[in-house]
Amino acid sequence: MKNPFVTRSQLDEIVKEHPTPFHLYDETGIRENARRVNAAFAWNPGFKEYFAVKATPNPSILKILREEGCGADCSSLVELMLAERCGFKGQEIMFSSNNTLAEEYQLADKLGAVINLDDLTHVEFLEQAIGHIPETVFCRYNPGGVFTLGEGKDGLQVMDSPGEAKYGMTRPQIAEAFRKLKGLGARTFGIHAFLASNTISNDYYPELAAILFRLAVELREETGCDIRYINLSGGIGVPYRPEEDTNDIHLIGQGVRRKYEEILVPAGMGDVQLCSELGRFMLAPYGCLVTKVLHFKHIYKEYAGVDACAADLMRPAVYGSYHHITVSGKEDAPHDHLYDVTGSLCENCDKFAVDRMLPAIERGDLLVIHDTGAHGHAMGYNYNGKLRSAELLLQPDGTVRMIRRAEKPEDYFATAVW
Ligand SMILES: *Cc1c(COP(=O)(O)O)cnc(C)c1O
Repeated sequence: MKNPFVTRSQLDEIVKEHPTPFHLYDETGIRENARRVNAAFAWNPGFKEYFAVKATPNPSILKILREEGCGADCSSLVELMLAERCGFKGQEIMFSSNNTLAEEYQLADKLGAVINLDDLTHVEFLEQAIGHIPETVFCRYNPGGVFTLGEGKDGLQVMDSPGEAKYGMTRPQIAEAFRKLKGLGARTFGIHAFLASNTISNDYYPELAAILFRLAVELREETGCDIRYINLSGGIGVPYRPEEDTNDIHLIGQGVRRKYEEILVPAGMGDVQLCSELGRFMLAPYGCLVTKVLHFKHIYKEYAGVDACAADLMRPAVYGSYHHITVSGKEDAPHDHLYDVTGSLCENCDKFAVDRMLPAIERGDLLVIHDTGAHGHAMGYNYNGKLRSAELLLQPDGTVRMIRRAEKPEDYFATAVW
């Protein structure tokens, strides 16, 4: 059973002041989870989680994470500007971009951010863009092929295709990049890789770590570069479905530690600092989309129409992603009605759920769409003249604070030239 972090009586109070739809975040959950992540890697002095800003680019959320000791992982000019405005400084900012603009490297350099190069050709491009090579540089590795991870209870735990991904450098390229960077003045080096997304497995990070640790040992031998940092990036998933398991970040931290002690320590590289760029794992479960049921329609199927749409949460429409839905206040009622839950876009993919068993829904019911804290509001858009919703923060004392207002028609018209 998957219950929301907010009750019907709390929601009844919240909607008196804040019209639906809105994304609601749970500050307590965010802080407790961030502390678990930091505790899980506390064995590695210098560990830092750089929150993937793209997942939830809200200043109040970023400031909470900064208070919990996190940095910011940015991949565009405006994300860099946002991180700076939220108080992240220097090496608290990681810049992991691809297909990068010169002005992005220029701002990253000006802010003193750690720069993570996605391609061999960017060694020269970076030098031209900023006029020098920073003392510390990271490079992104892509091993190619297919990445799989052993048998879980339902077969393969993880399967993804780095060989189809546009990111990172091949094995020969990363060695060449390190040599070039060293020749141009870089002194300490980091390695980054992102091999699989939304993994439900305590083995993904340890497996990735082993690949990167071995690579670090090899690259040091081949190039003589002083490799001090390994960036395990994002990819730790969350259980969107009630039957899925929750990743245990403590076990993940211990699994990475074993690989560290097995591979890096014997190679004399026990000073390597680890970092992560988690997005989904940091935020997804601690946000939800709250929406009101407006209409029912019975044609060839039974539809419940709500006041949110794919412009508020595009994952179901675009990826067919499952997001759990709770009819608030009916958590314990029998789930004996079959619905498609739809938004109002003139797009047939605008469905939050297809053929979902739910309790009998009434007009005015509030639906809680779970796990929208990452890649939820962030992926919003204005198609069909839809205005992006507000974001609210449920604070530890039970009060609610608006952390982004809903868009108004003036916002929609502001960029048009009449
Ligand atoms: C998207 C992204 C992340 C975060 O991924 P999650 O799956 O949300 O953890 C981290 N690093 C980079 C470079 C990314 O593009």
